Amino acid sequence: MSKNVAITVVGSGYVGLVAAACFAELGHRVVCVDNDEAKVQMLRDGGVPIHEKYLQELLDRYRCGRLEFTSDLRAAACDAQVIFIAVGTPQSQAGSADLSYVDAVASEIARSIDSYKLIVEKSTVPVYTNEWIRRVIERNGVPQELFDVASNPEFLREGTAVTDFLHADRIVLGMDTERAAEMLRRIYEPLASGDYYRKAHAIPGTRTEDDPPPVLMTSTKAAEIIKHASNAFLATKISFINVVANICEAVGADVQEVARGMGLDSRIGSKFLQAGIGYGGSCFPKDVAAFRHVAEQIKVDFGLLREVEKINLEQRQRFFRKVQSVLWTFRGKKIAVLGLAFKGGTDDIRESPALDMVKQMLHEGAAVRAYDPAATEHAKDMIPVGQQMEYVDDVYVAAEDADAVVILNDWPEFAELDLRRLRGILRYPIMVDARNLYDPSAMAELGFSYLSVGRAEVSPAALCGSSRDIAFLPQSA
Ligand code: NAD
Repeated sequence: MSKNVAITVVGSGYVGLVAAACFAELGHRVVCVDNDEAKVQMLRDGGVPIHEKYLQELLDRYRCGRLEFTSDLRAAACDAQVIFIAVGTPQSQAGSADLSYVDAVASEIARSIDSYKLIVEKSTVPVYTNEWIRRVIERNGVPQELFDVASNPEFLREGTAVTDFLHADRIVLGMDTERAAEMLRRIYEPLASGDYYRKAHAIPGTRTEDDPPPVLMTSTKAAEIIKHASNAFLATKISFINVVANICEAVGADVQEVARGMGLDSRIGSKFLQAGIGYGGSCFPKDVAAFRHVAEQIKVDFGLLREVEKINLEQRQRFFRKVQSVLWTFRGKKIAVLGLAFKGGTDDIRESPALDMVKQMLHEGAAVRAYDPAATEHAKDMIPVGQQMEYVDDVYVAAEDADAVVILNDWPEFAELDLRRLRGILRYPIMVDARNLYDPSAMAELGFSYLSVGRAEVSPAALCGSSRDIAFLPQSA
């Protein structure tokens, strides 16, 4: 039997497109489907709709060979042995996951099944979704022996998606039958065996031939819960360190020292202990809400997650007040904003705390000149160019004559600014940094007033007094 599998991936977004390119890299024949005709055409023409390291390289390698793009789901499903569903599962009005895209795709797949198919949910979905997909397919008259439904949650992070996929911490495969298990093992065999890492063209990363990713075989329900629980736990870690940061600020301790001290404990780990303006993006906010909703539905009290969400929103407000504390009022002020995407390394602006912050600044009457290495075009759709809103393609153009520079995400280039040059072109040498990219005492020495998160505010010796001391004075004082 051939080791290679005929795969269809439905959805060509951050997860679907990356998974499709990586499956092709593993030797499989892949058809990537999307109902967005413009996206499909762009992919066929050699374009890449998202910003991801190594993605262009992989698409160029396989586009004219074992990787194809189409909007014809039925034909693609008909030809496939395994169909991965990787469409969006946004938050519904009620806070639960909106599964209507998954439902629509499952019904469409059902209409094209005439030989055995394995249907795999890769989208992040609540427990029992597997069961619902099975029911939808059966309702469409497909006999049980012609299909299985499995769960293979995806843990990639935007910005490092290709590396994360091929050098995964773990591969979780949830299924309830042996034939589904056998097919999924075949798909991931090059990674699980370590063979992939021997290849000359392998995408570099942390995994090696001797240390391949572990494969965890579980029930479908456990796989679904693993994904929700993992994201909810990471979000909890972020909210936790943000509250610790607020304590540090109040007592004059440095949250980075505290986080390092905590993170060196191997039971805790250092990742996701960076204080900032809270989590955003297309996953954490909706996944925390969806997991909380699942718990409510089955009458399990998960109040902890409500608190995590509350802290996350408060952290944004707290940072906004911090910016205000140095500017006093926003009206008439020019602010240089660095970072629009929800984090560095991606062009994704969904649920971006940075955009939220810009909206508030504009609402308060400030003029914003913003720069982001990849997210500007998407941001323009949310906050159009206007009298008060300008987008530029250079940090120093953004900073020219600005009253303050505000760093909102963690692109590596924001941590390597020419600070002397920056100080020279700003109207006032003020930096408010939501990502703690600089050392406060070095900033004071360079002549900056520097405010970060969970660390003491510093000012150059000439400027006495902290803006925090005066932040709560009446505005007329
Ligand atoms: P996305 O919005 O970038 O992509 C979804 C794609 O599906 C879009 O291109 C859309 O046009 C397409 N689509 C929607 N309905 C369709 C249909 N009926 N037929 C064909 N195509 C259709 O979403 P994403 O970020 O890739 O996320 C997909 C899923 O993976 C979500 O459940 C998400 O929670 C999960 N996930 C995302 C990430 C991430 O970092 N983005 C990581 C892990 C898991």
